[in-house]
Amino acid sequence: MTGVAEARTTEDTTAKWFDGVVERFRARTPGSAAAFKEAQRILPGGVPAGLGFMSPYPLYVQRAEGAYVWDADGNKLLDFMGGDWLLPLGHCNPAVVAATTAQIAIGTTYCSPHVSLGIELATLLQQRIPSLEKIRFTTSGTEATQTALRLARGFTSRGKVAKMRGGYHGTHDVSLIANGRFLNDPDYVSPGIIPGTRDSVILLPFNDPASCSALIEEHAAELAAVIVEPMLGGSGMVPGTSEFLHALREATARHGIVLIFDETVTFAAGPHGLQGEYGIRPDLTTLGKAIGGGLPLGAFGGRGDIMELVDPVIDSTTAYRHASTLGGTPAPLAAGLAQVRQMTPETHAHLHALGEQFRDGVREIAAKLDVPLQATGAAHMFGLHWTRTPVIDFETTQTSDRTVISQLMLALCNEGYLFFRAGTGTLTSAMTHDEIDGVLAALDTAIRHGGFAG
Ligand code: PLP
Repeated sequence: MTGVAEARTTEDTTAKWFDGVVERFRARTPGSAAAFKEAQRILPGGVPAGLGFMSPYPLYVQRAEGAYVWDADGNKLLDFMGGDWLLPLGHCNPAVVAATTAQIAIGTTYCSPHVSLGIELATLLQQRIPSLEKIRFTTSGTEATQTALRLARGFTSRGKVAKMRGGYHGTHDVSLIANGRFLNDPDYVSPGIIPGTRDSVILLPFNDPASCSALIEEHAAELAAVIVEPMLGGSGMVPGTSEFLHALREATARHGIVLIFDETVTFAAGPHGLQGEYGIRPDLTTLGKAIGGGLPLGAFGGRGDIMELVDPVIDSTTAYRHASTLGGTPAPLAAGLAQVRQMTPETHAHLHALGEQFRDGVREIAAKLDVPLQATGAAHMFGLHWTRTPVIDFETTQTSDRTVISQLMLALCNEGYLFFRAGTGTLTSAMTHDEIDGVLAALDTAIRHGGFAG
C-alpha cells in the first residue's frame, strides 16, 4: 500500500511540475505561439521542412550567433541543436559567413562547375578521409545515401541491401524501413514506400557482430551493400563497437559486398570521421551536414572503380545518371570549405573535451540522484536516455522513457537551453566549459523539481 501511495505522490508531483513547465514556456514565448498559429495555416505542424517541431509548439528563431540563438521573443538560448549537426563551430562563424557572402555576390550557381571550389573541398575531404578516392556532391544526405545504394546495386549486379534496425539514412524508401525512432516495432515500415522495397532489404542488429556476420553470409549472393552509421545517430547516438564495425568490414569484403559508411553526422566526430577512429576503410562513404558549413550539401565517394559508374568520360551514356541540380553549387561549397578548414585537431580536441564533460556530468547527476539517466555519444555528440537498461543498440534505445526526456528538455528550454525533444544533440566549439557546467546544473534542478529523483 505504502508503495502505491508513494508512486502516486511522485506522479502527481511530476504532473504538477510539468503543468508549470508548460505554463512558463507559454508565458515566455508568446511570439512563438503567434508564429505557430500563423504557420499552421500553411505549413503542416507549423514547420517548413519537418525539423524543429516540439510540443506544445516549436520555438521560432529570429537570429543566431556563436553558441546561441534568439527566439521570436528575444529569449537567448544556448543551442544544442547546432542546425541539426551542421555547425560544429557554432552559428555565423566569421570565415564561413565571409566565404559564403563573397561567393553569393559573384553568383549563386552557374551549372558549369566553379573553377576551383569543388576541387578544393573534395581534396580537403579526401585528405581527411583517404578512402574517398573520388567524390561527387549532392544536395543532401538523403540523396547521397540513395545514390550510393543504387551504385552498389549496379556495381555488384545484386538486388538487395542490408541496413541496421534503427538506422537512418534520410527520407528515401530503404531508409524508412525499421527506422522506428518513436515506435516500438523494430521492423516498422513507413507507409507509402514503393511496394516490394521491404523485401529488398535485409535488417541487421546494430552492435551484434556475430548475428550480422551470419546474416551477411546467409544473404551474400543477393546482397549488393551493407549501409551503416558508425554511430547510430537519430536513434539515440549509440556508438558502434570496434568489434562490430570490423566484423561488417570482414564479412562484406569476403563476399564482394559494398560496405557503405554513412558518416553524414559522424564526419565531424574527428579529423578523419569515425572511420579514422576505428581504422576501417569502407568501399563508399556518404557525407552531409557539416561539410556544407550550414548550407545544403551532401556527398558520396569512395573506391575509384565504383565511382567510375558516374564518370561521363568513361560512360558517355551516363547510364547511372547522377545529376543533382542543387548538389555542389558554389555557395555551399564555399561555406563548407571555410568550415571544414577550421575543423583542426585543436578544434576537435576542444569539442571532445566539451563532449566528455557533458556526458560525464550527466552520469554524475544520474548517480547522485539515483535516476535512470544515461548519456551516450562520441566527440561532441550525445544522446540522453531514461532507462536502467544499458543503451548499446537500437532495441535498448527503445526502453528509454521518451516522455520524461521530452519533459526535461522543455524544462531546460525555459532555462535558456535549446535541445531536441528526443534528448539527442550536439555541442559546438563556440561553447565554453562554464556553459556546460550551467546546463548540467539546470538539468540537475529539473530532475529534482520534476519529482524524478529519489
Ligand atoms: N544519414 C544520416 C546518418 C543522417 O543523420 C541524416 C539526417 O539526419 C541523413 C543521412 C539525411 O540527410 P539529409 O537530411 O541532409 O537528407
